[in-house]
Amino acid sequence: MTCQIPDHIMASYAAGSLPDPFALVVATHVSMSPDSRASLEAHQALGGSVLELMGGETLSAGLKDSVLAALDDPFEPTPQYARSGVYPAPVMAAMNGRGVAWKNMGGGVRQDIVAADQYGTARLLYIPPGMAVPDHGHNGLEMTLVLQGSFSDETGHFGVGDIEIANEDLDHTPIAGPGEACICLAATDAPLRFRALIPRLLQPLFKI
Ligand code: ZN
Repeated sequence: MTCQIPDHIMASYAAGSLPDPFALVVATHVSMSPDSRASLEAHQALGGSVLELMGGETLSAGLKDSVLAALDDPFEPTPQYARSGVYPAPVMAAMNGRGVAWKNMGGGVRQDIVAADQYGTARLLYIPPGMAVPDHGHNGLEMTLVLQGSFSDETGHFGVGDIEIANEDLDHTPIAGPGEACICLAATDAPLRFRALIPRLLQPLFKI
């Protein structure tokens, strides 16, 4: 097993520069995957040694010390919320004490937006067994982490703890596996490109 989060995304997360909706997906994956945690720790150590190499010439001693101290701190959100059912602690923290509030999107598919800012949106998605998310492309980055059940698309099969990274190059139709409903945490930084008319008409309503 290797970490499923690409190095450049993990590096940006370790540096604290990944936008919140994507940082939530990475934090959640780190909480579920020992490989992901090891990758994060390696990037944090690398960040520290780069700062050491830069030495005092480019950074004031005080700034360098405070950055190094920050790198020593556990970067994960403080676990003020415990895991609840299928929802890991970072997801519970993003919901800030509220329960999941599903909104119907049609066809039994439901969503709950758990984080949104000018850089993107993170949502929980509930897809009934065997149900498809309408065929779509991407105007930016989409990171989808499976919390329960599974889904498949043109690129493969994704089970609990698996993460799919999609970008402008991928058009796909994710279909939930049989058995349990698929619950995912998905972050996007741009509207999706749906092929069919009805999903396109509903996009503004669902902010997807
Ligand atoms: Zn997609």
